[in-house]
Amino acid sequence: MRGIVLRGTGGIWRVRTDSGETHDASLRGRLKQDDARKLAVGDEVVLEEGERGGAWAIAEIAPRRSRLVRRSPGGAYGERIVATNIDQVVIVFAAAQPEPHPRMLDRFLVVAEANELPARVVINKADLAPDGEPEARFAEYARIGYPLHVTSVKRGSGLAELRAVLVGGDVAVEGAVEGASADSPARHARVSALSGPSGVGKSSLLNALFPGFSLRVGEISRSVNKGRHTTVGAELHPLPPVEGALGGYVVDTPGLREVGVWGVPPEALDSCFPEFRAHLGHCRFGDCTHAVEPGCAVRAAVERGEVSAARHESYLKLRGELAEDAQVWPR
Ligand code: GDP
Ligand code: ZN
Repeated sequence: MRGIVLRGTGGIWRVRTDSGETHDASLRGRLKQDDARKLAVGDEVVLEEGERGGAWAIAEIAPRRSRLVRRSPGGAYGERIVATNIDQVVIVFAAAQPEPHPRMLDRFLVVAEANELPARVVINKADLAPDGEPEARFAEYARIGYPLHVTSVKRGSGLAELRAVLVGGDVAVEGAVEGASADSPARHARVSALSGPSGVGKSSLLNALFPGFSLRVGEISRSVNKGRHTTVGAELHPLPPVEGALGGYVVDTPGLREVGVWGVPPEALDSCFPEFRAHLGHCRFGDCTHAVEPGCAVRAAVERGEVSAARHESYLKLRGELAEDAQVWPR
């Protein structure tokens, strides 16, 4: 029987089978010894009924499509897989109440980029802003390749499009099947990491999109909010079935919320800004930090208006933080 790992505690893994049943299972001995294939939330597995007493065992782990990794400070414990097989990161902010901070949005996007996960941006509470204002204010993100959704739970606007990108299936929505290719189409239930500050309407959105969905996102984020160095696990929540769709999962990700960007090496931060990439390698100095160096191709692009000054500022701010962390936690 095939299934997907919803969560794990103390060596017991909750697996949801393709037919929708859940079983608690442990890893087959031979898999346990294979360090390279440690099981994580999101893994697709083959489940077998045990010989004695009918206990379930995980006999196989399928190859992973992606990994969300947190790196331990100082590399003391190496990297730790928070969740696997995440298809997209969905970052939710509000048009107002709370006021959106682009810098914080950039921080979430960097975490997605560092893990090579496609990201999209949702601006909820559109009813609290003038018509068209959220679209204009966040147009830069759409321009650099992050699909932008403007929604209002209160008005019920933008919800169908967002639902379609969460449940996957054959619903034609632009950019809905990133990561899919001819030989590997997105024919699996889509797994989305939903993240963003509290109070922006994540729980309200899920409840509006999937009536009957009981997840309290706020509750879950509180339970994992134990400080940035606490080891916490992710959990996968099956979304209620939507007709004609393959179904989907939402993973609540302490990995995004808590890890911040301190796992990213400072010199790798520039490549986490997709609009910088065309300019990287063209600076006069190979180790250019794109801050004050003469002949910086990134800053030249900012001056030409090809790279947004606000995004460049975000980069500098984050780079400064990472450099500090690198001193506190030498690699
Ligand atoms: P979460 O912390 O991100 O899960 O946010 P909640 O879903 O708990 O929502 C926080 C508050 O925002 C609640 O009082 C909601 O009723 C309100 N809210 C959610 N969506 C909207 C919206 O589209 N418009 C307005 N005006 N308020 C909203
Ligand atoms: Zn430079």
